[in-house]
Amino acid sequence: MNALLIQAGRVVDPATGRDETADVFVTDGRVQDRPPSLPPGTRVIDAHNRVVVPGFIDLHVHLREPGNEASETVLTGCRAAARGGFTTIVAMPNTKPPLDSPAELRQLDQRAIGAAAVRVLAAPCITRGRAGIEVADLEALAEAGAVAFTDDGATVPDADVMAAAMRRSALLNRLVMDHALDAGLAGQGVMHEGEWSRHFGLPGIPAAAEHLIVARNIRLAEQTGCAVHIQHVSIAESVRLIREARRRSVPVSAEVTPHHLALTDSDVRPDDPRRFKMSPPLGSLADCLALREAVADGTIEAFATDHAPHTAESKARGFLAAPFGVIGLETAVGVTYTTLVLHGLMPLLDWVARWTTGPARLLGRAAPTLAPGAVADITVLDVDNEWSVAPAGFASKSRNTPFDGWLLQGRAVCTVCDGRIVWTE
Ligand SMILES: [Zn+2]
Repeated sequence: MNALLIQAGRVVDPATGRDETADVFVTDGRVQDRPPSLPPGTRVIDAHNRVVVPGFIDLHVHLREPGNEASETVLTGCRAAARGGFTTIVAMPNTKPPLDSPAELRQLDQRAIGAAAVRVLAAPCITRGRAGIEVADLEALAEAGAVAFTDDGATVPDADVMAAAMRRSALLNRLVMDHALDAGLAGQGVMHEGEWSRHFGLPGIPAAAEHLIVARNIRLAEQTGCAVHIQHVSIAESVRLIREARRRSVPVSAEVTPHHLALTDSDVRPDDPRRFKMSPPLGSLADCLALREAVADGTIEAFATDHAPHTAESKARGFLAAPFGVIGLETAVGVTYTTLVLHGLMPLLDWVARWTTGPARLLGRAAPTLAPGAVADITVLDVDNEWSVAPAGFASKSRNTPFDGWLLQGRAVCTVCDGRIVWTE
């Protein structure tokens, strides 16, 4: 493997607090001290006016394979991740069949190896078949490489089942992640319940559908000692509960998506489910502001895309019938950088931390860093030049992004995974 020199970039490394112009030298898949003379064949990447960071981690990605390869495959999802600046992604289990056995996990591993792009970690099901009734064989799944458990797409409705899963997961030292949404309260809702759902005459999902489950999960974390993670938190009251619980050292964490940070229910267009129908739905302005505050102050430790590809046909069924979800891998850096850093809501170092050390800590993995000896997972960012979101050029198979046509700042121009360049402009 040839050596690589990323030259004269602004190195921003939250694990060490480093923020300075420097070279980053890579050989044998690791960051190393730069030798006085470069070995022959060293590839040099000019990083003047670029920001060089540890490879980004996305805790929440739907790869759709097996079962819905028309909207995404492991290969296209991994390519989209690399283009977006990610070197590690966590695959959600709501495939067909669901990811609930070691055999399914091994298949995912094989497909990820075939894609040869980014690291794919697996968060298989909490319950067998994602049916919410019987806890899956968590011990066998952990043994086969599961980094966390979730029934994402749905919450585990029965508190007894959730408690049993959390007791077992605590012994395995794995995070239990939950799509906190009470199915009964959500009912047939398709957007956040409030003045805008009434204005459009669309059935609403009340805020309580989320925060009641968040409250339940916090209680269960206290009882079982198991770390619980609230996926794509979207409601101000959920944030308040999480902040209060964390103050009492309850092991609860949360992630927030770029779309919940950048958009509100007032942005919804009732004729455009491709861009504006997702679960949880876009909240009110007050919810959005609470999420921004919480990710800035560290109550929310991680961003996550909830990349949820859907075909154009399925999204053309109208707001009531179209599936929930929007894609995010190729816009996440730009949307979060523009919304938070460019607008002065959080410093660059903290923003990088929410994409790197934050998610790594939740997964119990070593802090990503650019210090010598570290695995060479590296992202080179251009944060100075505006770019226009053009989904036609995406590596993802799907086009269901709310940010179509937006002007953003911040994008990956080179992604290095395990010492190999997996994306370069
Ligand atoms: Zn979800």
